[in-house]
Amino acid sequence: MTDDIQNQKLAALKETARPCFQCGICSSSCPVFRVAPELNPRISVDSIITKGVVPREGNEWLCAYCLMCDQRCPMGVSLAEILMEIKNISAREGKAPPDVIESAESLMGDGCLSPISGRSEKIRTELGLPYLPRADPTDVMKIFKATGAIEVIEANKETTQEATE
Ligand code: SF4
Ligand code: SF4
Repeated sequence: MTDDIQNQKLAALKETARPCFQCGICSSSCPVFRVAPELNPRISVDSIITKGVVPREGNEWLCAYCLMCDQRCPMGVSLAEILMEIKNISAREGKAPPDVIESAESLMGDGCLSPISGRSEKIRTELGLPYLPRADPTDVMKIFKATGAIEVIEANKETTQEATE
């Protein structure tokens, strides 16, 4: 993705965040914030508004996208959308967490985030449960190709490799 498009995404993000008046309802409503205060949606929005920068601490990856913050914001700020876009921007910069990239690769290869393990199969058989149907990754690959996700995954793998060298 070009810098121009990244800048356009940043500008749109700032516009989405603009109505925020820092009441903190989003953070006090966030179930993740209660157990992991490093994810603080109010602070993420504040960083965008007051510093004009997208926070890249990595905390946004903790967001469970439950939309509680969106539903309770008195100004109608779409926090979940903002956090999702921060993740997208970070991923395009090659800064997605390695376990997220591993999950994306699993999705590409097996059509599901967590492949069905032999142990799961064995337990299901012992319990008399039917075999789980195998997902078809063909459609997933079409989406990944159309959205440029494959290039993003490769960029992140290169970043991880460089960091370990
Ligand atoms: S609830 Fe809305 S207005 Fe209040 S701090 Fe969060 S984003 Fe800003
Ligand atoms: S969408 Fe994310 S930030 Fe918002 S309340 Fe849910 S977990 Fe918290």
